[in-house]
Amino acid sequence: MALRKCPKCELNYLRGNETICRVCAAELDKKRRKEPDPDEIIMCSECGERPALRGKDLCEECLREQKRQADLELHADKVRADEADDPIEEDFGDDEDSEE
Ligand SMILES: [Zn+2]
Ligand SMILES: [Zn+2]
Repeated sequence: MALRKCPKCELNYLRGNETICRVCAAELDKKRRKEPDPDEIIMCSECGERPALRGKDLCEECLREQKRQADLELHADKVRADEADDPIEEDFGDDEDSEE
């Protein structure tokens, strides 16, 4: 099988069924990710250790944590609401072939 050159840079050979070489692939990947300018980096307002995500003022970690907390609270609210509700009301209708 003949070696093919990368059509993009025409410098590097392709391996296997690559369509562009690794160098170009990495380059494309970098562009696709659109890394923000260093000047644009805003540090996370929560931990101050990691850069905040674009358009947010929290880093990925803190956002995840925040979401987790929100979910927990949401869940807790739901559980509380469920407990407060009269449980007899549910399961009316087609409960004839309950498999348990
Ligand atoms: Zn290339
Ligand atoms: Zn953070």
